[in-house]
Amino acid sequence: MQALAAVARAPHSEFSLETITLDGPRPGEVLVKMEAVGICHTDLAARDGALPVALPAVFGHEGCGVVEAVGEGVTKVAPGDRVGITFASCGSCAACRTGSPSYCHNFMHLNYDGVRADGSRPLSQGGDSITGLFFGQSSFATYSLALERNVVKVPADLPAELVAPIGCGVQTGAGAVMRSLACRSGSSLLVAGAGSVGLAAVMGAVVRECATIIVIEPHASRRDLALELGATHAIDPATGPVADQVRAIVGAGVDYAIDTSGIPAVIDSLVKSMTFHSKLGLIGVPANPEAALPITVIETLVLGLTVVGIIEGDSDPDEFIPELIELWRAGRFPIEKLVSTFPFTKINDAVAAQHRGEVLKPVLVHE
Ligand SMILES: [Zn+2]
Ligand SMILES: [Zn+2]
Repeated sequence: MQALAAVARAPHSEFSLETITLDGPRPGEVLVKMEAVGICHTDLAARDGALPVALPAVFGHEGCGVVEAVGEGVTKVAPGDRVGITFASCGSCAACRTGSPSYCHNFMHLNYDGVRADGSRPLSQGGDSITGLFFGQSSFATYSLALERNVVKVPADLPAELVAPIGCGVQTGAGAVMRSLACRSGSSLLVAGAGSVGLAAVMGAVVRECATIIVIEPHASRRDLALELGATHAIDPATGPVADQVRAIVGAGVDYAIDTSGIPAVIDSLVKSMTFHSKLGLIGVPANPEAALPITVIETLVLGLTVVGIIEGDSDPDEFIPELIELWRAGRFPIEKLVSTFPFTKINDAVAAQHRGEVLKPVLVHE
């Protein structure tokens, strides 16, 4: 069948809207008619060569839509079901079998290579293959071919633009607090960066009843939004050393810290703001893949520090996405405060608006 897709043909270049050919669903696959898809930093990083994805490619990995057809053996969803689409995992490795699919031993292959188990590639144009199956979905298109394992049935009455970003950015930030670090009620948390992931972490911290939630963020509008979402303090790093500002609020230092920046100097400022037996969660991907942690062995020993690397907020999507949707329904997880919608065909305008810092989480919607 044919679909309209935003094809990435060259690094650092605009997406081009093109008609492509999409295979029908094979065993274990699910064809989804897209309603909405979020734009995540990873889509652009992959386009620009930071991840091993061959161009031309169709990115997009925060999809929401309606199941159009299912391949042989699919029982989890049926045509007509509304689904959110998340990252792909194999379901059979040790990580998947123990409820940690974001650490799937086959994660790189399933999410970046664009190749099915039988070696075929589902997207093409005029006989030339286009890399698809990005995060098991390539959902910057009118139709997405996903896998039974990475679709999650969601209620039909939810706005698609709120479901879509849960599949990556929102579950990553919320999961970091609610699952990876499992922040204690009454504890203190420091979050570096008030982008959509950092703000989802703030919302997760409110759910976990953290008593002190401090955000470090250079942009005033984002600091204001962090406070509106439940942060107790929002620090401007330009005002003075972060550790001094944090210790003016929590003298002994914070129990938990989360980095969404991937910047070693920021991580260093978090470590200097922490108390003993504290936990540091790392989410941000550094621009330099060789970047090392700026922590001395002595600092780690003296603090009794635990450092936790976090992928997708340790989400088990079949469990965690419905949990976040219920929290949204209860008015305790206002995803809408993060989202700005754009028509799907305006994808390049959406990317530019995010780049200029005008929007937090652009979500493309199909008319
Ligand atoms: Zn696995
Ligand atoms: Zn993402």
